[in-house]
Amino acid sequence: MRPMKAYLNIAKLRVNVALKRKSLSNYPVLAVIDPTLFCNLRCPNCPTGLRLGLRPPVAISEELFRSIIDEIGDYLLELWLYNWGEPLLHKQTPELIKYAKQKEMKVIIHTNLSMRLTDEYVESLVKSGLDELVVSLDGATEETYSRYRRGGDISLVRENMMRIQSAKRAAAIQTPTVFWKFLVWRHNEHEVEMARSCHRAWGADSFVCGAGFMPPAPHNDGLLEPSTLAEFVPISPPVQDVRKRRGGHNHPCLWLYGALTLNANGSVSPCCGVWDEGDDFAQYSSRGDFFYAWNSDKFKKARSLFQEERKGNNADAHHGKGRTIAPERPDNLPWYLHSANDNRVYCQRCELHRFMPWFAAYPETVIHQAFYQDVLRFKTNKGPKEFRSLILWLTLGGFLFSRYFWRGVLHSIVWWKQERRKQVLPQTW
Ligand code: SF4
Ligand code: SF4
Repeated sequence: MRPMKAYLNIAKLRVNVALKRKSLSNYPVLAVIDPTLFCNLRCPNCPTGLRLGLRPPVAISEELFRSIIDEIGDYLLELWLYNWGEPLLHKQTPELIKYAKQKEMKVIIHTNLSMRLTDEYVESLVKSGLDELVVSLDGATEETYSRYRRGGDISLVRENMMRIQSAKRAAAIQTPTVFWKFLVWRHNEHEVEMARSCHRAWGADSFVCGAGFMPPAPHNDGLLEPSTLAEFVPISPPVQDVRKRRGGHNHPCLWLYGALTLNANGSVSPCCGVWDEGDDFAQYSSRGDFFYAWNSDKFKKARSLFQEERKGNNADAHHGKGRTIAPERPDNLPWYLHSANDNRVYCQRCELHRFMPWFAAYPETVIHQAFYQDVLRFKTNKGPKEFRSLILWLTLGGFLFSRYFWRGVLHSIVWWKQERRKQVLPQTW
């Protein structure tokens, strides 16, 4: 059961965002902790796959992982154990998950699953308490798969997915839920339906697909082209359209308030999209360091960009001159390849917050997902613990004041009435 302080933390987070505070007293609700900074594949849209050497190729120490979980674990709703490296290349990943799962949080791993794993490793991974295992598998044949996942072996991935399902059956447990994640480009778009129809036979519980990002100009060797299917075209709308969207202009980027991104060597990034360690905001080394890192000068400066927006200086502060990098740059590189020597704080050059407002609001999505999970738990088991958690969500979690919540209630009432009418009215044919 989640402690009361976790709900209080959500209330604090909401107040700090509303007041656009620079220095925070709340803990994050989402943590991205990367177990490794190395990988066996060479994907062309990933700094690790490209072997750019922008981060040291190290694995997280168990001690560092335990310190951060001890410090912030009670407040976390979700933990992503992946970012710029392959998490299953870390020998202790199952133990790390087990340690984190002592706290009430959802743990997710994204993996290429294209490596030899021992039976003991598979078994301990399945028994670790991991909630979701998302497998990057962008094709249903070797030819399409290896166009992006360079160095990967599709039959090994398939074999590993089947082994995970067998281990789940042997242990008689339902988790982790295995997702087949299919990124779509032009070369593999014809295989989406084939993959969707065979995902169960391959050992996945669920299938998800989305647009594949194009590698940035200096790394685009021409082998990848955007999908021709409208639903899989990569997102790159013009700025003026994005500015009209909710969350794309006046709202602070919630990664700076509700998410911690910790790399395997203890370096702290503003969010999970930062390629170069030189752009990081702080260093976390041991227990007790958290608020030094969380309220470092760079974090405060980044948060203050949104304060300036509030004061009406936004044109130069966050979305205007100070942030348009392309015209000023001779090499015309996208923002995530921008040199760390630029002395502007990374968020000043970031485009993510502009063209993907949903990404900037992701910590709020995490809060909503945790709430709905608890609602479902209450529906299946109406015990006092579940009731307590629901009350805390509604009050401290702020859902009583959320229009999404009331819209959901309204929909449920309408649905319930329709169901009731179906039962009462005699069938007339
Ligand atoms: S599998 Fe993931 S971490 Fe490895 S190179 Fe590809 S994108 Fe990067
Ligand atoms: S403003 Fe951009 S770089 Fe900064 S935390 Fe948000 S998404 Fe990341």
